[in-house]
Amino acid sequence: MTANESPKPVTAYCRACGKPLTEDTLKMSQGTVYCEEHVPQQSAAAGQGPAASPYTAPAVANTGVSPGLAFLLGLARDWRSCWD
Ligand SMILES: [Zn+2]
Repeated sequence: MTANESPKPVTAYCRACGKPLTEDTLKMSQGTVYCEEHVPQQSAAAGQGPAASPYTAPAVANTGVSPGLAFLLGLARDWRSCWD
């Protein structure tokens, strides 16, 4: 591929690989220019990333007690301590 094959002038360079980009091929992400190959896929990751999965996220350290039950137990313990 030579420069003569590009119909548009180079307007920017990919931050990741330094590839020359035209206004048709450049991709903007958070004010930074990337080529189509290196632009971060933020729209696809939003809401569906591995961190958002309930199966992989570290929910509660003690899996035997639900957060609600743990709260009630703590509340009862504090309540009893007021009467001891
Ligand atoms: Zn690139």
